[in-house]
Amino acid sequence: MKLAINGGKRSFDSEPESMFHWPIVTQEDIDAVIDVVKSGTMSGTVITKQFEKEFAAWIGSEYALGFCNGTSSIEAAMWACGVGAGDEIICPSMTYWASAAQALKLGATVNFCDITPDTLTIDPKDIEHRIGPRTKAIVVVNYAGHPADFDSIVPIAKKHGIKIIEDNSHAQGSLYKGKFTGTIGDIGAMSLMAGKSFAIGEAGIILTNDRELFERAVLYGHYERTGVPSRFNPVDNELSYPELAHFKGIPIGGMKGRMNQTCSAMGRVQLKYYPDRIKVIQESMNYFWDCLADLPGLHPHRVDMNEGSTMGGWYYPQGLYRRNELRGLSSDRFSKAVNAEGIKWCFPGGNSPLHIHPFFNESDLFHMGKPTAIAFGQRDVRQKAGSLPVSESIHEITVAVPWFKHLEKNVIRSYADVFRKVIENADQIPSK
Ligand SMILES: *Cc1c(COP(=O)(O)O)cnc(C)c1O
Repeated sequence: MKLAINGGKRSFDSEPESMFHWPIVTQEDIDAVIDVVKSGTMSGTVITKQFEKEFAAWIGSEYALGFCNGTSSIEAAMWACGVGAGDEIICPSMTYWASAAQALKLGATVNFCDITPDTLTIDPKDIEHRIGPRTKAIVVVNYAGHPADFDSIVPIAKKHGIKIIEDNSHAQGSLYKGKFTGTIGDIGAMSLMAGKSFAIGEAGIILTNDRELFERAVLYGHYERTGVPSRFNPVDNELSYPELAHFKGIPIGGMKGRMNQTCSAMGRVQLKYYPDRIKVIQESMNYFWDCLADLPGLHPHRVDMNEGSTMGGWYYPQGLYRRNELRGLSSDRFSKAVNAEGIKWCFPGGNSPLHIHPFFNESDLFHMGKPTAIAFGQRDVRQKAGSLPVSESIHEITVAVPWFKHLEKNVIRSYADVFRKVIENADQIPSK
C-alpha cells in the first residue's frame, strides 16, 4: 500500500476533534464558576478549602493545600523540605522545567539523573551515587501518567534521610500498586492547569501526610492562613508550631500562592466526575495500544494493570519508539509519515533534557556575577552533553501519540490502522 508521504491517498481527510475535546465542561461547572464571579469571592479561601478537603479525601492524603499554579506548589514543596542555599536536589533531566528550576531560586542546585527508556521515569540506579551531604530531596516525576518505580526509590531516600517530592502534574489519578501517585513520597505537588488531565485553569495543589511539611508550605505562600484578619477570609490560622506561628501575616517565600476560587469551584465539580472520566480514557488508550500489540517499532508506554497500577488520565501519551526494529527509520521521519496520512498529533516525544539547558548551567538569577548553580557554594554538579544518554535520546526513543478521551472503538481503531499502515510500510519511507 502506498503511503501518503510518497504520494499515496491520505488515510484521513479531517480528524474528529470531539475525540480529543477536554476537559468535559457542563452547566454545573459553568454555574459554579459564575457563582464565584458574581459573588466577588475570587480571592477567598472558603471554596478552595472545600476543594482541598474533597481532593485529599479522594486521593487518600491527610492534608491538601491549593496553589495558583503547579510551579509555585513545587517551589513551596521544595522549601518545605528544607531546600536552601548551598543544597542539592536530584531530579530526572527529562521533564518539564518546573520540576526543578525553582531550586535555583532557593539558592540550591540540581543534580540531574537519567530515566529508564521503558518507564520514562527516574532511573533508580542513577540516584544513590549522586547523593551528597547537602542533598535534601529527590524530585520524582510520574511522567506522562506513568508511576515511577517507588519500590526501588523509597528505600534509597529512607536510607539517606532525604525527602521525596513527587511532581504529579502528569498523573492525577494514576495508581502505583493500588496507591495514588502524589501520596507516596513525603509530599506531592502538581499542576492542575488547563492542559493537564485534571484541568481547572491555572492551579496547583500540594498533598502530604506530614503536618509540619503542610504548615511550612502554608508559611511559604499563604499569608492569609497565618492568623491575620482579611477582607476576603475569616481569620484563619493553620500554623500550630510555635517556631512557625510567630511569622504571622507575611509569607516567608515573599509570594502569594493562593488559588483563584473560580478554579477551585470548577475543581469541586470536576472532581465528582474525574474518576469515571479517566476510566474511559484508560479504556480508550489501552484499546489503541491493544490494536497495535503485534507490531514492531512502536510499543506502549503503560503499566501492568494486574499489579493495581494505572496511567491515570494518561496525560501526553507516548509511544516507545525503537528505530532498530524499523530499519533505522528516525522518529522524526516516522512521525512525518503519520502526519502525511492526516493525523496531526504525532511527533518525536518527551521533554528536552534539562541538564544541558543554559538556565541550569549559566543563569545568574541573583546578579552575583556567577552562575546561580554554584553561587551559594553548591557542589558543582553541572553536566555536559553525553552524560545522561537516555534523557538525551528522548526525541529518538519516543513518539507522542493521540490522547483519546472518549471510547469510540471504531474511531480509535481507524487511528490505529494508520499507525499500522505506516509501520507495515516503513521501508517505503525515505530517510530524508
Ligand atoms: C505543567 C507542569 C508543571 C508546572 O505546572 P504549572 O501549573 O504550569 O505551573 C510542573 N511539572 C510538570 C511535570 C508539568 O507538566
